[in-house]
Order: sequence, then structure tokens, then C-alpha cells
Amino acid sequence: MPGRVPVRIVRNLNIVIGLQNYDVIVVGAGPAGGMAALTAARLGLRTALVEEHPQVGSPAHCSGKLQLHAFREVDRPPHLIMNTLQAGAFYAPNGAVARVRRSTPDSHVVDRTEFDRWLASEAQAAGAELLLSTRLRAAEHENGMMRVTGERGGRTFASTSSVIIDAEGARPVLPATLGVRLLRRLVFGLQYQMTGIDLEEPDCPEIYLGSSISPGFFAWLMPISGRRARVGLCVDPDLSGRAPIYHLDRVMREHPVASTRLRHARIERKLAGPIPVLGARRPTVIGGMLLAGDAAGQVKATSGGGIYFSLIAGRLAAQSAARYLGGESRGLEDYERAWRRRFGRELKFTAFARATLNRMTDDEINALIAAIGSDDSFRSAIEEHGDTAFQSRLLLPLLRRSLHPSRLGAASGAMVKALRYGLRALWDDGAHLATQTDGPRASGLGPRK
Ligand SMILES: Cc1cc2nc3c(=O)[nH]c(=O)nc-3n(C[C@H](O)[C@H](O)[C@H](O)COP(=O)(O)OP(=O)(O)OC[C@H]3O[C@@H](n4cnc5c(N)ncnc54)[C@H](O)[C@@H]3O)c2cc1C
Repeated sequence: MPGRVPVRIVRNLNIVIGLQNYDVIVVGAGPAGGMAALTAARLGLRTALVEEHPQVGSPAHCSGKLQLHAFREVDRPPHLIMNTLQAGAFYAPNGAVARVRRSTPDSHVVDRTEFDRWLASEAQAAGAELLLSTRLRAAEHENGMMRVTGERGGRTFASTSSVIIDAEGARPVLPATLGVRLLRRLVFGLQYQMTGIDLEEPDCPEIYLGSSISPGFFAWLMPISGRRARVGLCVDPDLSGRAPIYHLDRVMREHPVASTRLRHARIERKLAGPIPVLGARRPTVIGGMLLAGDAAGQVKATSGGGIYFSLIAGRLAAQSAARYLGGESRGLEDYERAWRRRFGRELKFTAFARATLNRMTDDEINALIAAIGSDDSFRSAIEEHGDTAFQSRLLLPLLRRSLHPSRLGAASGAMVKALRYGLRALWDDGAHLATQTDGPRASGLGPRK
């Protein structure tokens, strides 16, 4: 660990509360913010981790599926692991299924509330100051520093720092106050934690595809223990005028597979939240502010998974801040290059794959799933190369199998059709994807409280 970076002293006279100034203010105590604060504190930076809610991790808004890769970013917290996943079952709208089973586990399921709390407490133990019930509303540049203002316990809060790491989640407000309007496309998720489910395999999440089932996304059933699972879906408001609750209740009642699993099930808990699925868009460095996690759109648009990349981005942002404070003038700019090197390709690939999937009709999805389900070669490609964190690794093996001369028959026809959609999506990527839908429209979710 490098030595402590010298702290810049700034005199600030207009502060109502929050008299401190810091090297780094991290906004939001989710995975991106928790990891940023932990890393910054361990690097010796005077760090504040600011969270609007009175407790970290609450309200929860996530299924908690986290790839094993992620446990190389954090010291493995074994008590937080609820289940381990090694397989997957992909259901077409007509009930046809393609099952895959890897030889090693892919992901754990964690309790997100506990995970976020654990991360924040590690950051505190490393020296970060945790400021709860503190909602920031604006950021500005002031004499070479960053200044944030907001509220804390009903009073005005203000503070200064050399660097802000903005980890506000899917709907960040601070970039706009610095004059930057971020382009985002949001889908809106709703999930029930349920018990009394007739699960088929405890390590196998089920994915229910189809534009009639979950427009612009998919529905899922993710086992967590015994007969318990998380059952949810997301909806793209551009593709359905109905709220997620309408679609989820329909899946539970009418889906040919899910409805039988859930016949005797009972809801224990509900949660909801938006997911940015446009893929990352510039900028993620705005003067002295670095964006990390959902705030930067660092989410796989296919699956909505963002925890792993949020952890990486939080760590890289803090490391960039430390380099900048240590005297490297390009330290902050390098953040964008660093995270793109680690997972930029995945964001591009999954945004493209999402655009492709969104173009497929339910009949075409039925044919595709039937093709994969009945063809050992496709299945074994997925089992061998499939990695839910790095989904682009599957593209070449699938292409190779689809286009092999000996195989140009019924099975690869569906795959080739999907590829044609992919190419068309690539062609008009900008026009199709770059729709600003950053609002509560048709979501059934109001503005954040
Ligand atoms: C239904 C659903 C299921 C999901 N399932 C999975 C999954 O299984 N696996 C996976 O990898 N991803 C999943 N995701 C995505 C995942 O939740 C996000 O990618 C991840 O939480 C992003 O972390 P973050 O730190 O960027 O933001 P968040 O976790 O959203 O954290 C942001 C924090 O900042 C706080 N905050 C926001 N604004 C301010 C402000 N102005 N001042 C102070 N505090 C502020 C918020 O209260 C919050 O605590 C799911 C998402 C949804 C909606």
C-alpha cells in the first residue's frame, strides 16, 4: 500500500454542517461506492462514503447473483453466500427448454443488503467515514476542488474534496449539476422473494424469454435455498405500456413452466429498481468527478448484472484518484481507459446482444431455444465457453458452430437468423439504442424516495 497522500487544506466558510473536507467523497454506498471507499481508504486517502438512506443496503433492489470472478475483487465473505449456481435453463415462450450445466460453478447468490453493509463496514475499518441519511443534490468546481451540497438530517450539508466518485446508481443527479446530461435507457425490474416453490434443480436459475413475457428483457427464477427462490422480471417502457407488476403476475399465473413451479408459492418480500441497459456512454470522467457502477452504465444489457463491474470500477476509480492526488496529472483521465480495458468490450457486446434479442419475435425465440436445446454441439459450446460475467467469449465458438459447412441445416438456421438481427442492430445501433427513457414512465415505480 502506498503511503498517505498529502491532504489539501481548503477553508470553507459557508458550510452549514459537514465541516470536513476530504481527498475523496464517494457518493452512494452500493457495491461501486463501497468498493471505491474501501480502496481509497486503504490507499491512505481521507475518504467519506455518503449514503442517502439511514442504513446501507436498504431498501434492497437486486437478486444478488454474483460471479465467482467477483470474489477475486473482494475478500470472499463466506457468511454472505446463500447459494451457488452452476447450471442454467433457458425457456422459450412455448415452454421449450435449452439446459446447460458447467463443470464448475459460475456464480454465488448473496444477500445484497448484507453484502453492501459488509463492504461499507470494511471501508470504515480501513478509515473511511460513513455519512448516512445524507443526500447530495449538487456538485460544482470551486477553486480547483469539488464541492458538494445536499441535506443531512433536515439540514443543509456541504463539503469539499479533491475528487468525487459518483456511485449514485441508475439515476445519478450530480452529473447534470456539472452540466453533463447522461444518455441512459432504463428497464424497470420487480422481484418477489418466494417460498414453497417446486424447484427442479437447486443450482439452476431458470430464464423465461419472450417479448410477450417480459418485453425488452426476461423473467427469472433464481433458487436461493430449499424451496425458496427470487422470481422477477424487467420491462422496457419503450416496448410495453404496462407496469412490471402486470407482467410478473401474468408470468406467475400463465407461464407454461413458471406457473407450475409457483403453484404453492407464497411471497415473502418484494423489491424493485431500474437497470441501465444502453451500455456505457461517455463521459465517465467529468472534471474532478469519476462515475462508477450503474451511474456509469456499467451493466450487462443482456442480463442486467452490474455488481461485478461496479466492484471493479469502484476500485479503479479510487486507484485513479490516489494517483491524481499523488501528483499524476492524468490520473483521473486514465480511469476511463482502465475500466474499458477490463470490461468495456462486454458492455458493447451485451448492448448489441440486447438489441438483437429485442428484435426477435416469440416464434423466432421458440425456434432458437429448440435449436440449442436439441443440438449437443451448441450446448457444449455454451457449457465450455459460457461465462455470465464475460458473455462475449461465447460469440466466436457459437459462430464457428453455426457457420460450419457440415452443420448448415435446421439447427443452425435459427442461429443464423439471430445473427442477421444482430447485424441489423449493429447497423443502426445509435438510432435504435440511444433513446433517452430516464424516467418513471410506465414503470409502476415512482421517483426515488
Ligand atoms: C431487480 C434487480 C435485480 C438485479 N439483480 C442483479 C443480480 O442478480 N446480479 C447483478 O450483478 N446485478 C443485479 N442487478 C443490478 C445491480 O443491482 C446493480 O448493477 C448494482 O446495484 C449497481 O451498484 P451501484 O453501486 O452502482 O449502485 P446501487 O447499488 O444502486 O447503489 C447506489 C447507492 O447510492 C445511493 N444514492 C443514490 N443517489 C444518492 C445521492 N444523491 N446521495 C447519497 N446517496 C445516494 C443509493 O441510495 C444507493 O445506496 C439487479 C438490479 C435490479 C433492479
